[in-house]
Amino acid sequence: MPIATVNPANGETVKTYEPMDDAEVERRLQLAEATFRTYRTTSFAERAEHLNRAADLLESDNDEVARIMTTEMGKPLAQARAEAAKCVKAMRWYAERAEKLLADEVPDEADVKDSGASRVRVVYRPLGPVLAVMPWNFPLWQVIRFAAPALMAGNVGLLKHASNVPQTALYLEDLFQRAGFPVGCFQTLLVGSAAVDEILRDERVKAATLTGSEPAGRAVASTSGEMIKKTVLELGGSDPYLVMPSADIDRAAEVAVTARVQNNGQSCIAAKRFIVHTDVYDTFLEKFVAGMKDLTVGDPMDDHTDVGPLATEQGRADVEELVDDARRSGADILCGGERPDGVGWYYPPTVIAGVEREMRIHREEAFGPVATVYRAEDLEDAILIANDSPFGLSSSVWTRDEDEMAHCARDLEAGGVFVNGMTASHAAFPFGGIKRSGYGRELSAQGIREFCNITTVWQG
Ligand code: NAP
Repeated sequence: MPIATVNPANGETVKTYEPMDDAEVERRLQLAEATFRTYRTTSFAERAEHLNRAADLLESDNDEVARIMTTEMGKPLAQARAEAAKCVKAMRWYAERAEKLLADEVPDEADVKDSGASRVRVVYRPLGPVLAVMPWNFPLWQVIRFAAPALMAGNVGLLKHASNVPQTALYLEDLFQRAGFPVGCFQTLLVGSAAVDEILRDERVKAATLTGSEPAGRAVASTSGEMIKKTVLELGGSDPYLVMPSADIDRAAEVAVTARVQNNGQSCIAAKRFIVHTDVYDTFLEKFVAGMKDLTVGDPMDDHTDVGPLATEQGRADVEELVDDARRSGADILCGGERPDGVGWYYPPTVIAGVEREMRIHREEAFGPVATVYRAEDLEDAILIANDSPFGLSSSVWTRDEDEMAHCARDLEAGGVFVNGMTASHAAFPFGGIKRSGYGRELSAQGIREFCNITTVWQG
């Protein structure tokens, strides 16, 4: 894949980049290592000053960076602006909280005594340069949710961004430098995915985080395993969205539309499988399909657009194949399902019912505005269908019944259970999945501690 900005709304190549050669990557690795040696000793106050400055700069760059993102990957401009604003909030959150989240811990006095110590502390020290392999779907947010905690913990970052968002990748390096972080604290490596393996094997790189597809996660995890390096993996999802009879059905159907098509349907935590109790199935489906049909598909720079193009031509072909496979195998396409004529990689909001276990769309992630709907006999049945997936990222359940809420919180196999709302990430709450959605957590206290050397300091 060339490193280039190709506008998905019309397929035109806007700008191409030469990948960095080995000598440039080596220079940057040396710089990362040298910077870490001093940066690790800086105070939380210094780091917070830089991070707050970066947040202020990003806030004033909002429109410019939003336009870059929309040009590179096609999300509606309003959603790109919201993404940049969310990053600002998360940066300020970590700037304010990191010192408290990483404060030394003192074990129970009885345990300290039992170990024969006069004093014991558990301290959170940084690990060093961390490689971040990132996807194009939230090109700013995915990087900031790694970088803000990593930099506050005293680590330095090396970003290998997706090849179709080079301008966003370069913007990020520039942002952290303008904010006053020492040069080398955050660098972009403009390289293709084939270069990742060698970088990961380099002794100067201490850990890696990858957000992306399963094959990419497997490749990074396998090399990291060989090199005994810590990894965090945020991979794909096929989140269930359960609707029970006691729910506010109008609201559940309205939110279902947003939960499925946000970011043109290309979100790991989008609700993708809608599992509806038989008593409210027809009512929900009618409202949901009407909502999906009502969306405006078009130019992502236009403020009236709800759904823009898919980010890549291949991405659209992948979605199309899943829908065609379901159709051929007897599923009912209730709306959408046909690619439109004309330029750009558009695909219409699509709803599919009658999905069977052997259909590819039942087990694979549909990374576009395509929803599958299942009928469940009762809550047990709904949970069985929900858990019948290789993924386990997040989930959403709509009910007014407290027992049902508790049951879902106990039994849904996922890293999140959102009740009467759609899944969304927030700086203060852990984010991540189980099963083939990956491991480790981002955001919150758990996220900032992932790339720390948690050290026991024992004193006799
Ligand atoms: P992708 O193809 O896996 O790309 C992600 C990143 O990995 C890119 O930087 C890519 O570089 C790199 N990459 C690809 N193959 C690699 C390999 N073999 N070794 C090392 N690096 C490799 O994924 P995507 O299409 O950009 O993103 C969509 C996927 O990400 C979906 O499955 C989505 O669910 C998942 N995702 C998960 C989360 C989460 O938090 N769990 C969030 C967002 C997205 P190139 O661009 O140069 O190929």
